[in-house]
Amino acid sequence: MSKDIVTDPPEISQVKTVEVPSWVNAAWKKLNTHKKLESAISMYMEGLRMEIDHPSMALVSFVSAIEVVSLMVFHPNRCSECGNYMEISRRFRATLALVAGDTTAEYLRPAYDSRSRTVHRGALYGGELIPGVSPFSMFMVSPESEFQIGMVRGIRSAARSLLLMAVQGTLPVRSRLRSPQSGTH
Ligand SMILES: [Zn+2]
Repeated sequence: MSKDIVTDPPEISQVKTVEVPSWVNAAWKKLNTHKKLESAISMYMEGLRMEIDHPSMALVSFVSAIEVVSLMVFHPNRCSECGNYMEISRRFRATLALVAGDTTAEYLRPAYDSRSRTVHRGALYGGELIPGVSPFSMFMVSPESEFQIGMVRGIRSAARSLLLMAVQGTLPVRSRLRSPQSGTH
């Protein structure tokens, strides 16, 4: 009997084993030396916590996470006069294109502007303003549902893919964003 317990203890055989992917060790080390990436992942996690009740704020979080990755992929262009970052939204879109096909990237294109209107003007796009159940139709999706289901989920999924690439070290080598215009703003 005791032999059975040693080889196959029931209390352990009932524990679900979780397979840890082989890249986790290296990723863990990377996070310890790359604080910005660690912050980006925390920001992504914040987005997950907010997504259902606060979709506009969740979008802000997911876009922030993508922006951190975008700076790992592209050298930022800075204004030669004031030193401010330039073409942030174009860099954001170029980063999205790494994980989204053309159609999806085009669909997600307005996300950066939406995020900016939330940050700078307090704009809300999801169901935050409609307490309770929003009007439901089989044939029509409300703009609020469209935002929450389409835009926020799409950006969340892109952020997740990009963060995974970042921790796995599979992002493309950092390059300069090809610029249609340069100089100052
Ligand atoms: Zn400037």
